[in-house]
Amino acid sequence: MTKECVFFLEITRQEDPALSYSQEWICKLDSADAYGNKYTDASLNLKDVQLDEAGIDREGRQVLVSGETILKPGNELSSGIIKISSGSIPQISRRIHVVHNNLRSKKRQTQTEARPNDEKKELSVLAVRVIDKLDEETDVSTDELSDSIFGTYGDDVNLKSQISACSYDSVTIVPAVSKKGKNNIKNGVITVSINSIVSGSDVKTIQSDVSNALSEELGGCELPCSYDHIMYCFPRGARRNMSYMWTAYAGVHKWYSVYNGMPDGGNYCELAPVQMHEIGHNWGLSHSGDIDDEVYGDGSGVMGNREKQRRYDGPVSCYNGPKSWKLGWYSDRHETIDPSKLSKDGQVINMIGLANYENSISTDKVIVQITNLPFGNDEMIPTDYYIVFNRKVGINWETQEGGDKVVITKRIAGQGYSDSKIVAILGAKSKFYIRSRNTSKEFLLIRVDRINIYKDSPAKAIVTIKLKKEKVSDNSSISTLQTSTSTEPKNDLNRDGGFRTSIPYDLCGILIPIKKSECPDKFDYENCKDVAYGELCEADDNQCGTSYSENNCIGYDMYRKKECKDHNTKRCAKLTDENKDNRCKKRRYRYSCSICCSN
Ligand SMILES: [Zn+2]
Repeated sequence: MTKECVFFLEITRQEDPALSYSQEWICKLDSADAYGNKYTDASLNLKDVQLDEAGIDREGRQVLVSGETILKPGNELSSGIIKISSGSIPQISRRIHVVHNNLRSKKRQTQTEARPNDEKKELSVLAVRVIDKLDEETDVSTDELSDSIFGTYGDDVNLKSQISACSYDSVTIVPAVSKKGKNNIKNGVITVSINSIVSGSDVKTIQSDVSNALSEELGGCELPCSYDHIMYCFPRGARRNMSYMWTAYAGVHKWYSVYNGMPDGGNYCELAPVQMHEIGHNWGLSHSGDIDDEVYGDGSGVMGNREKQRRYDGPVSCYNGPKSWKLGWYSDRHETIDPSKLSKDGQVINMIGLANYENSISTDKVIVQITNLPFGNDEMIPTDYYIVFNRKVGINWETQEGGDKVVITKRIAGQGYSDSKIVAILGAKSKFYIRSRNTSKEFLLIRVDRINIYKDSPAKAIVTIKLKKEKVSDNSSISTLQTSTSTEPKNDLNRDGGFRTSIPYDLCGILIPIKKSECPDKFDYENCKDVAYGELCEADDNQCGTSYSENNCIGYDMYRKKECKDHNTKRCAKLTDENKDNRCKKRRYRYSCSICCSN
C-alpha cells in the first residue's frame, strides 16, 4: 500500500434476528492502491493485530475507531486483505481524537464522513435505485421510495418524520436535490444503471459499481458529493459474506447504508425502524442488547432488532438511553451522577419519558448517567450506567421492551462506539444494585420509589440513587447483594418488575398499626419502605415484620412509620439480651425500643 487508509466498521443486519450479525473492519483504499477505483475497500484480519471484533485490545483499549483510525502506508495488500507487517499496532495511529457529543451543534462538517459530533441541523439524504445489466431493478418505484423515507406523498411514519419527532426538530432529514445543471434526482431519489449483474454477485462489488455509476451521474464528484447520507436500495439477489439473507448494512461514522430487497417484494429501504437503525450506525451508534440477547435484544429503541415481523411504519420508538445521551437531543434534561459525590441521603430524581420532553420543566430528567463509579463495579473495564423512564406514549408508543418502566442500561464508559445492554427493568417499588467487583462494602442503590402514569402530567418515575455501605449484621441487604450483581443469570430479571428484593431493615423503621379512627378515606398510600418517618403507609404481605392480617383499616394494613430509636428510655432500660426476645413480642416494647427493631 502506497497511501494511508481510514478504518471503518461495517455492520450487517441479517433477516433472521436469531442469526448472528456480522461486523467487519474495512479500510477505504486510496484509488492509487485500487487500480484507480475510488470506491474499493480492503479488509483487515483482526487476529493479525490481536484485536477483538469491536477493535478493542486485550487491555480493553479501543484501538480502532471507525472513521478516525488510519493505517499508515507500507503494508502489503493481497486480494483485498491487508497483510499487517510485524505486530502492526505501531502502524495504526489515531487521527485527531473527536469527542462525539451533540447532534445539535451547528458546526459544519467535512463532507466525506457523517459524524454525530459535528452535525448540522439539516441532513440531506439521497436514496439510490439500481437497474442492472439484465434489467433487474430495485422493486420500489421512485415515488414509493421517496414516500417511505421522506413522507413525500403522505406516509406518516418514516425516517424524516421519526427523526424529527425523536430529536424535537434538532435534526431534519431533507431529500437530496439535483446538482446544478442536472435534473436526475426526484424527491430525494435517483436511479442509476450498472453494467454488472446483481444476482449472485458479492454486494461489495455491486456497491462499488453503483458508487462509480452514481458519482458519474452526479457529475463526477467524489461521494457522498455534499449529501450527508446515501441509502443504496438494491434489488434482492446479491450475496453478503456468502449469505443472501441479509437485511442491510452500514458504515459506522460513514455516509452510506445498503439495503436488500425483501423476499416477497419491496425493499428494506422502506422500513422506518430499519432506516433509523442504519442511519444510527452512520452516526456512530452501536447495537443494543439485553440479558437474553446480548447484541440485539433491547427492544426499547431502534438499535436493537427484536422485531421479526416486517412493518413499514413501526414499531414507533426512538433511541435508548445511552444512544440518546450521545445524540444529545434532550441534553438540557440530562443528569450526571458521580456516586462518590452523592450526599448521605442520595439523590431523588423526577424522571420523565423522552416522549414527554417537550412538556418537561428543568427539574425533570430524561436520562440519568451514572459515571465514575468509586469502586470497580462488576466490569473489567470502566462502565457507565444509564437510567431512563421508558414512557410508552406518543413518539415512543410502540417501544417493545420496558414500556412505562424504568430501564437501566450499561455500556463501556465514555461516548465511543460501544454496544449497550439492558441490565434491569424496574417497576414501581423495585430496585437494582450496582455492586463492587472487589471486596469493597459499598454499593449503589437505584430504587424506583413511584411511577405515576396518571397522577402526574407528564407521567413521572421517582428514582432514588444512593451510595450505601453494606451492614454485616443486616442479613436482608446481604442476601439482596448476592442476588443482584450485574452478571446475574437471566432468571433474576423479572420483566415486569425487575429485581424484586427483600427490604433492608433500615428502610422499615418501626411500623405501628394505626387506630381505626385514624383510617383515611382513601387507601392509595405509599408502601411503608418508601415513606418518611411520621407518615402513614401501607404494608404489603408481611414485609418489615408486619402481619399479613392486621386489616386495621377495612381490609388494608395501615401503619405509621416511626424511626427506629428509643422512644421510652425508661421502659427500654428494662430490656436485656436475655429477656428481649420475649418482651419484644409485646407491642409496647417493640414500638418504642431500638433493641427490638431488627427482630
Ligand atoms: Zn445494526
